[in-house]
Amino acid sequence: MTSEDTPSGPGSYRRRARAKVYLKDPLALSRRGNFPIGEAIVSGDTSIAPGPTSSRFVVVDYDASADRVYAPTKWQERVEHWSHGQGEYLYDFAASQGTRQEVQINAWATAVDTLQLFEDENVFGREVPWAFEGSRLRILPQAMYDANAFYSRQTKALHFGYFADRKNHPIKTALSHDIVAHETSHAILDGLRPSYLESVHPDATGFHEYVGDVAAMLSLFRQRDFLRQLVMLPVKTRSFFNLVTELAPQVGEGLYGQADRAALRSARNTLTYRQVEGDRDPHVRGQVLTGFAFQVLEGLFRARLDSDMGRERGHGPQDLFRELMTAARHTMRMLLRPIDLLPPGNITFVEYVSIVLAVDRHFYAKDGLGYRKIAERAARQRGLHPSQHEYAYEIESELPTNRRLRERDIAMIRSSRVGAYRFLDANRKNFRIPGNRDFRVVGVGTNRRALDLGARAVPETIVQYQWEERVPLPRDVRATALDHVVLRAGGTVAVDEFVNLVHWSPQTPTTLRRDALREHAIRLITDRAIDFEPVSGLITSRPYFAGRDQSGGLRLMVNTARMHAGRASGASAGKAR
Ligand SMILES: [Zn+2]
Repeated sequence: MTSEDTPSGPGSYRRRARAKVYLKDPLALSRRGNFPIGEAIVSGDTSIAPGPTSSRFVVVDYDASADRVYAPTKWQERVEHWSHGQGEYLYDFAASQGTRQEVQINAWATAVDTLQLFEDENVFGREVPWAFEGSRLRILPQAMYDANAFYSRQTKALHFGYFADRKNHPIKTALSHDIVAHETSHAILDGLRPSYLESVHPDATGFHEYVGDVAAMLSLFRQRDFLRQLVMLPVKTRSFFNLVTELAPQVGEGLYGQADRAALRSARNTLTYRQVEGDRDPHVRGQVLTGFAFQVLEGLFRARLDSDMGRERGHGPQDLFRELMTAARHTMRMLLRPIDLLPPGNITFVEYVSIVLAVDRHFYAKDGLGYRKIAERAARQRGLHPSQHEYAYEIESELPTNRRLRERDIAMIRSSRVGAYRFLDANRKNFRIPGNRDFRVVGVGTNRRALDLGARAVPETIVQYQWEERVPLPRDVRATALDHVVLRAGGTVAVDEFVNLVHWSPQTPTTLRRDALREHAIRLITDRAIDFEPVSGLITSRPYFAGRDQSGGLRLMVNTARMHAGRASGASAGKAR
């Protein structure tokens, strides 16, 4: 560590950093000539350094195509001032348009802002871990000459490519807000639920795509500058959402193929689960959920405008600004917050929607403004409502009664994975953990969430537990080295400070789950979608690769480097090495 990494100064000084970011991308900016610039602030950070570097991210400007490392960006100025009775250093990062430094800063600041969206008090209210050892995710803002951008757990990095479009304009994917927010979200979800990238269920990867797109969309609605300018535009109030999708980045068009996948443009769709069920492409699949989320956001906004209070206040720019911001906040709470409560092993779209509705029912039983009705209606239209599936996914009706639980010691549960294990182990029956299974606690965390009007919610401790069940594959597909797939059973439990159960999402190894997993694994094998002898996770071109685990068995892993690649049909990108 150099002295640059740890700026000296009195210990009581806070450090914050500030940077301008593109809210869409430079091409969208030139096309419309207004509003895609915002500001990202890194607050409460102790380690701002050149790169830019902060406690959770470090920019490494390495270009694999040129095999060259470029110099890190230093802040432009450091302002010392006092705020709220405390000394503070404010680091300003800025660079002129078209420079490498601009790309470094934009990628870093957008990534920081995306992490803050998830860690917000309205969403998780806690720090999100990465899926790898180490506290900093590397960002390679100009990583290769290729129409591709991806997150990789193996390299602990976000890789952003650059290429030339049809008209030979240079396109840098790290300048696109939607792409950076999307890729950062893959890393965030992988940190929260690492098994999702090891699942053969196509919903798990589709869910990854959904989280990326919904985060890109909702983070825009946290930008005051964006909203302020949005409500001043001479469009009909109800057309705001057209505008948001219309501004889908040109970069996205080049990177993800045709207009079918310019993240936000495709968010306004009427797709149903049935229509995508047979499609293995995670992007196509994820669009059902993204469409659902967009519908919820729009529905909440309209409900607020149409409410008695909304009509009384009128629909001036100030009112629209406030209602858009509020609707977005409620959408985050309704759709993003439950991600912290999902089971660890796998996720299907219907399970996700069912948990979203159950959590909302638990916290907002009355549904005064009819938000849940809006979500239920949208879910039904898309065939995602739990009542439309044979799937037994009961959460509340089976919640064990608190007084039957043993070892209700919150200090012990919070202390470590071992402490949390003791609690679950003492209550195996209640949590449907078979007596003969060696289960593991794969995550423990306590949140500090906010309620409306700045009130604090009771902190919840969230524990994820998991065990593995082997699902044998039929002999005729065993020509490959893979003779079984792993079903990760388990669940997620949330308790309050008195160890009262707040939420439980079990995922038991039912026949339905086993059959689904077997079916998907067979399809991967027959489609030759698995690379059984990958040289490295980054080189293979197949969607999955297999690796050996400690016991010598084969484990599958999604090849994230190929998740977005090969879709740039119109782009004239060369092959990256
Ligand atoms: Zn993606």
